[in-house]
Amino acid sequence: MTAQFNIKNGPPRFSIMLALFNNNAEDGLRYVEFVISKNDETPTTIKVLISSLEREDGSGDSWNFGGTTDDLFGKKRLKIFGYFSSKNRTGVLYAGKQCVSCKAKGLMGSFCYKCGNPLN
Ligand SMILES: [Zn+2]
Repeated sequence: MTAQFNIKNGPPRFSIMLALFNNNAEDGLRYVEFVISKNDETPTTIKVLISSLEREDGSGDSWNFGGTTDDLFGKKRLKIFGYFSSKNRTGVLYAGKQCVSCKAKGLMGSFCYKCGNPLN
């Protein structure tokens, strides 16, 4: 199963930074919100706990991120990852895991549907 969403809106750059560095959940800064939509369905807002961040290029506004959310598919701490432009506030978000063998994205369950590799 692949779950890919378009990011229609998201946080400014400093909010992403604070979400990564601030581990105090009570002050509310730990989470960032993304407005996402699958195909052209009604957009939904999810709260994301950012756990990793990588510069996608040298612009300082282009990010590969990873994290978890409680707001998709009724799952707790569902792994998500994606690409986000803090300049355009758009990007793409994958829910689930990525296969380390074949790089298929947005996988759920215990095994990759493409190559059968176990997921962790
Ligand atoms: Zn695979």
